[in-house]
Amino acid sequence: MKRIVLIGPRGSGKSTIGPMVAQACGVPFIDTDEEIVSRTGRTVEELFRADGEDAFRDYETEVIQNLPEGPLVIATGGGAVCRTENVRMLRREAMVVFLEASAAVLADRTRGGMRPALTSLSHDEEVAAVLERRRARYRAAADLCLRADEETPAALCRVILEAAEKGSLPVNALSELLSFLDTTMIPAGERNVVHTRIRTGASWHNGLYAVIGNPCLHSISPSVFNPLFEKYRLDAFYTRIEHPDLAAIMAQFNRAGMKGLSVTIPFKQDVMRYCDAITPDAREIGAVNTVVQCGGRTMGSNTDWLGIRRPLEDTPAGEAVVFGAGGAAYAAIYALQSLGCGVTVLNRTAARAREAGERFDCAAGVPDDYKADAFDIIINATSVGMGGALPPLLRRDQLHEGQTVFDLVYTPPATPLIREARAAGCICIPGTEMFIHQACGQFERFTGIALEPDEVRELI
Ligand code: NAP
Repeated sequence: MKRIVLIGPRGSGKSTIGPMVAQACGVPFIDTDEEIVSRTGRTVEELFRADGEDAFRDYETEVIQNLPEGPLVIATGGGAVCRTENVRMLRREAMVVFLEASAAVLADRTRGGMRPALTSLSHDEEVAAVLERRRARYRAAADLCLRADEETPAALCRVILEAAEKGSLPVNALSELLSFLDTTMIPAGERNVVHTRIRTGASWHNGLYAVIGNPCLHSISPSVFNPLFEKYRLDAFYTRIEHPDLAAIMAQFNRAGMKGLSVTIPFKQDVMRYCDAITPDAREIGAVNTVVQCGGRTMGSNTDWLGIRRPLEDTPAGEAVVFGAGGAAYAAIYALQSLGCGVTVLNRTAARAREAGERFDCAAGVPDDYKADAFDIIINATSVGMGGALPPLLRRDQLHEGQTVFDLVYTPPATPLIREARAAGCICIPGTEMFIHQACGQFERFTGIALEPDEVRELI
């Protein structure tokens, strides 16, 4: 049996449902709060009051790190998902269940308790604010999201037991997905993996993921995410869906209850119509490259801009130029502005540059407007240089020492622009860095586990 971990806010029913599931499976039940109490000899309330929230979280992490091996049912404290080391440990060879409830129900269930407030808000406001802050973390860390305010504990227990036995996806929906994948150019190896699961009648406990696009068969994401799933002992699989019809892809995604999608050309804008919620950054950029599904609700977000921002965080803010006016350019402009840079967007098609300029309130023009002395940071967000094609976007005599050149094109890693920039003495950032950092953001949204960039770097 997979170990079963219950997560969710205080009042969601973890310590009621946990023992029921444990009894049905004939395995021990551990409540991490109770474990802390028995180790310290003090109540959670006393620990919070005397030592503060951070110290309580340290006790909690210690308990989670030292959980016994083997089959168990575990109920965690409401804030356990806030630390990635906890999520990493809880997720190992486990199925994680998020018990979701409305803020109003949670507030009612926890009213009059002894717990000290975490904020200066009223009880109801605090419950709502904490839930809002943690909801994305719960959803990322969970394999199964259940409405604990709409079903009885017995009904929830039955659903959890069935998922523990058969995986979190319905196998009949998986058959339908396979028929759909057969109309695409899915690589035989990936098809066989899905097919094998259908034959055995048990799907994945930690979800099915895919990159969607047209084209996307060249994507290196499966060779990054699948080894990471293995490393973190997740029973999950990442494949590719190359298909022209986004509506058909999203219908399969919803029906099969897939956990997450990486979204690439040409769907990054259109996929927003299929999301129940969109993060504010993705809305401002106007594109979604990550979709996470939990409990039938889909959340769209954007990690492309983080992939551009993170490698530039040690570069002093200055004047920046972005070549291109597509989705990657929008993410680059947003990232540069978030770092306090002045931005000019230059694009072959002037009308698209103007549109970007208006959207982000920045200067706009055509590539001929480029002046070497005007810019500290140069970002190539066009496809110029892909596959090593010449001529380079800029020649070495148009670049100078001290400039930072970030080429978002990553095939080959040393593009013609990067070679020219090196010869001119510029600081160079290859497009692989964007890929690495956006993939880290995506893995965290998919699983709740934050990665070190080197963990992705060594896989590409
Ligand atoms: P997109 O929406 O199709 O935009 C392409 C841009 O390139 C447009 O502004 C287009 O100008 C311009 N362009 C194309 N051919 C050109 C040429 N021969 N000369 C001058 N400009 C040209 O694509 P995107 O999604 O923004 O992606 C842009 C680049 O970023 C791609 O090379 C992609 O590989 C790269 N990227 C990298 C990562 C990563 O992880 N490293 C992630 C995403 C994207 P017009 O408007 O005039 O057509």
